[in-house]
Amino acid sequence: MNDRNVQKKEICTAISKAEKVLIGIGGEWRLREDGKKVRSRRLKDEAQRALREGYESLYRLIKDKDYYIVTTLTDGAIYDTELASSRIVAPCGNIHWRQCSKACTKDIWEEGEVPSDVCPYCGAPMTGNTLEAEAYIEEGYLPRWEAYKQWQAGTLNRRLVILELGEGFKLPTVIRWPFEKIAFFNQKSAFFRIHKSLSQIPKEVEERAWGIGADSLEWIRGMV
Ligand SMILES: [Zn+2]
Repeated sequence: MNDRNVQKKEICTAISKAEKVLIGIGGEWRLREDGKKVRSRRLKDEAQRALREGYESLYRLIKDKDYYIVTTLTDGAIYDTELASSRIVAPCGNIHWRQCSKACTKDIWEEGEVPSDVCPYCGAPMTGNTLEAEAYIEEGYLPRWEAYKQWQAGTLNRRLVILELGEGFKLPTVIRWPFEKIAFFNQKSAFFRIHKSLSQIPKEVEERAWGIGADSLEWIRGMV
């Protein structure tokens, strides 16, 4: 059994004993359609299958737990899985939700709800309700963020496992830094940071934290 298998076993055990499980999902779970071009249909199918299997493994790992998931992805793929949407917050938005590109209204529509994809109030084109929008309407995720904060308050002094999957430094204020802080303050927590190249753990939390240098999606596939 190599090191990685030992770590997987330990993490499974920690999760089975945990009262609360906090998950962060970052860029390693984005379908890479830029950079390394997904040229062929076959490669694209493979990438999509890998992603689906990753989410399935994650679901099997935490489905019986009191969990919450924070994702910085905006592709909405997580909502097509068995993971409970009431336990997911996507503060960077969701490409499948539409907003006025001029943000003349805080209304947000489902995809296809406004057939012309033009703002019914001002006639400006609609755009995805994500951080990439010129004027991002944050109201789309704020109620869920409040719910997450409340859930988080309930993890205090509970056996908490924090599993951070593939989040880099692009938006450290959403997952990385807050997770370190939660691990620091909760003495009953165990924090696992999995990332191919950015798995380092700051000194302050090293007692309760483990960095695992692996691609988090590959790592979790077939784990359970
Ligand atoms: Zn408008």
